Amino acid sequence: MTASSSSSSPDGTSVLANVRLPDGDIADIIMRDGLIADITAMPSDNDNGATRIEGYGMLVLPGLVDGHMHLDKALSGLPWMPHPAGPTRLSRIETEKALRASLPPVTERASNLVRQCVSHGTTAIRSHVDIDPDNKLSHFHALVEVREAFADIVDLQIVAFPQSGVLRAPGTSDLLDAALGEGADVLGGLDPIAIDNDLDGQLDILFAIAERHDTGIDIHLHDAGADGLKEINALCERTAACDLTGRVTVSHGFCLGAASPDAFARTADAMAEAGISLATHGGASSPLPPVMALRERGIEVFTGNDNVRDTWSPFGNGDMLERAMLLAWRSGYRTDDDLQVALDCSSGAGARILGLEGYGLAVGNRADLFTVDAETPGEAVAQRPRRGIVLKGGRVVAREGEFSGESGD
Ligand SMILES: [Zn+2]
Repeated sequence: MTASSSSSSPDGTSVLANVRLPDGDIADIIMRDGLIADITAMPSDNDNGATRIEGYGMLVLPGLVDGHMHLDKALSGLPWMPHPAGPTRLSRIETEKALRASLPPVTERASNLVRQCVSHGTTAIRSHVDIDPDNKLSHFHALVEVREAFADIVDLQIVAFPQSGVLRAPGTSDLLDAALGEGADVLGGLDPIAIDNDLDGQLDILFAIAERHDTGIDIHLHDAGADGLKEINALCERTAACDLTGRVTVSHGFCLGAASPDAFARTADAMAEAGISLATHGGASSPLPPVMALRERGIEVFTGNDNVRDTWSPFGNGDMLERAMLLAWRSGYRTDDDLQVALDCSSGAGARILGLEGYGLAVGNRADLFTVDAETPGEAVAQRPRRGIVLKGGRVVAREGEFSGESGD
């Protein structure tokens, strides 16, 4: 399985010509050795002999960052499957386990979704991967294979995720420990109260594994009301005690969207103190944590597509501009300034949490960029216009919404 190929530029220099910068200026972007070497008023005078990539005056932005994904669950590339699960989380867990033996390999389905995400402008993904006593590390090993195959196309961070619980599924803690030992980037978790009915029991195990492997934690917390707030506050205490400040993420945290003002303020202050970030997908069926109020406290809020066309959800196409739009729409954002916040949740904030070095549209940073047919970042979020090209390390990996990374276009 391979997905990489040669550079697009024989002498190592190429020019992304005639693009609109976020401030409205038209410019050429000179790229060398995978980095942004210069950003100049067009036509640039130092591009002699360089490969020219025409930007057609489209807006250029840093590559999108999908901070919460489930690549191993995807049905991407398969015939349409009507939603098979019942209305509860446990039904979705059991339905998925019953169906997965009949599906094509994880590598195939996950690769299809990666190509789809890249075609929309995504250059980095954090994906959770199911680890349980049934599939053991097979999904994890599949995503490691995908991570290697797409290494020069997308940065893929893997979260070892106990989808069936930790205590509720005996043997899972050893499997999580093994996955971290074999190269998982982050440790996952899941609703200690609702799934394991043992808040301290699950957190004892997670923090012990995290400390042993010196890794961060990204835990799914769907639990509502007092249970959810209790879980977040327990995470804050343990994060500080274990010196994991700045390395723990709450995914979803729906309880923050329905808490009383006092309870929200207390919990958010504790999150800020412990440097705990929040990943939200802006889903419609649960309370949405208040993005601005969290950011105003210095809490990083980033977003991701979560379930994209899988046995958990029939929705989604992997487009992080669409995800930014949904977050903005649910948050009531209308001004370009507010829409830019939603875009940051789909790009810069995710990059900071994933620890992507050299991220952003500036000289010296990685040439991970995409173009979109918009005048401003606000328009890009509100309208999700067509994409022009997607560049990873200065190499074209998608063009006009079509993945081309394997052809080395
Ligand atoms: Zn998720």
